[in-house]
Amino acid sequence: MKASIRQDTYRHQGLRNQLIRTIQKKGISDPAVLAAMQKVPRHFFFDSSFLEYAYEDQPFPIGAGQTISQPYTVAFQTSLLMISKGEKILEIGTGSGYQACILAELGAKVFSIERQKTLYEKTSSLLAEMGYQRIKLFYGDGYKGLLSYAPFDKVLVTAAAPRIPEALIRQMKPGGILVIPVGDDIQIMTTIHKISETEIRKEEHGHFRFVPMLEDKARDH
Ligand code: SAH
Repeated sequence: MKASIRQDTYRHQGLRNQLIRTIQKKGISDPAVLAAMQKVPRHFFFDSSFLEYAYEDQPFPIGAGQTISQPYTVAFQTSLLMISKGEKILEIGTGSGYQACILAELGAKVFSIERQKTLYEKTSSLLAEMGYQRIKLFYGDGYKGLLSYAPFDKVLVTAAAPRIPEALIRQMKPGGILVIPVGDDIQIMTTIHKISETEIRKEEHGHFRFVPMLEDKARDH
């Protein structure tokens, strides 16, 4: 189904209201984050045969062995970023593009990298049809960051990182925040506050589960 004929009906908006209440009950309180999630039609990121799953607070397969993150997780990571309008945000792991749209709705300029070519292409055409001009997508390896557009105000990793990539800290401005789930089977949501070029502060925020952050561009998709 083409995005141009996708519709955001009152029924979808009602389901989205319920989803917002669910994630609020789970502890998300930032009004700007909740408003952004109210705006973006999550069902646009699903194939038409799976639309009924779009407003459950669950992750869901999006092809190429990848998933669209659980709405609660999207809200949690977004809250940790403490975004102000106009900030430059680097996202690693574009996937469906849903998280990138939430960042754009908060007024951020989004630069997002995906290592799977099929996903990069599919999401590029969806976001173009949806009219998101504040989002730039890149096909590449997120471990390297995006030197030609650095420095960034904040960096968000939406795949499970076995280690914290140095390049991502280097490509942030002092005062920046990196949000990254670190670990193998289960990850600890970690924030790195870049105090200065030589000093960082690390915080941990509980357990999550993401698909792995893999080195290099994928060769099989
Ligand atoms: N933010 C996404 C969630 C996608 S799941 C959304 O809103 O839908 C994580 C994504 O990270 C997958 O698409 C995976 O292919 C991608 N990924 C994994 N390792 C990567 C890397 N090194 N560089 C860029 N993308 C990567």
